[in-house]
Amino acid sequence: MAAQIGVLALQGAFREHRLMLDGLGAATRLVRWPADLEGLDGLVIPGGESTAIAKLLAIHGMYEPLRAAHAAGMAVFGTCAGAILMARAIDGARPDQEALALMDVLIRRNAYGRQVDSFETTVPFDGVEGGPVKGVFIRAPRFAGLGPGVEVLSRTDDGEPLAVREGRALAVAFHPELTDDARVHAFFLERVVGS
Ligand code: GLN
Repeated sequence: MAAQIGVLALQGAFREHRLMLDGLGAATRLVRWPADLEGLDGLVIPGGESTAIAKLLAIHGMYEPLRAAHAAGMAVFGTCAGAILMARAIDGARPDQEALALMDVLIRRNAYGRQVDSFETTVPFDGVEGGPVKGVFIRAPRFAGLGPGVEVLSRTDDGEPLAVREGRALAVAFHPELTDDARVHAFFLERVVGS
C-alpha cells in the first residue's frame, strides 16, 4: 500500500509539497485539524512563515496531537519554517511562537539574510544518489546547535549544516519543493518513513 502522507496546510508552500509527493506515488492528504493526522505514516511541515503557522497550530489545537502522533511513529519532514517549528528551541522566536520540539536542535531564524536574498543553488545530500540536490533558500534558518543524536546530512562548503535528521524527523533549511528535484522527498519516503 502507498504510504499515507499528510501535508500541513495552514500556511505556506503546502501545494508544492503535495504535488511532489503525489508524483512519487504517495497517498497524500492536507492536514489542518487533529483528526486529519489519523493513520498517517508521515507528515510534511512546509516552509512559509513560522510565526503564522505557529499561531494557526495553536488555534487548531494541533500541538499536542502532532507531538503524540510523532511519538507514536509518524515520520515528520520540515522545510525552512517547518524546520524552525520542529526544533527544541527557536532563537529569534516571537514570544507566542511555541516550538514543537520534535528534534534536539536549536535553530536561528532568518540567519541567511532578507527575503530579497532568496536564491536557488545545489547542495550535497548524504544518502541521495545522482549528485547534489537543488534547493531554494528564502530567509533560511541556521541549525545553530545540535544534540548528540542528530545526524547532519548536508553541509555548506564552510561546514554549516543544511539538513539534519534525528530518527523519524528530517529537517532542511531550504525548499526542495520549489525546484523540479524530488530526490529529498524520495529520501524522506524511502529512508525516513520507510525506516
Ligand atoms: N524566515 C521564515 C520564518 O521564520 C522562514 C522562511 C521560509 O520558510 N522560507 O518563518
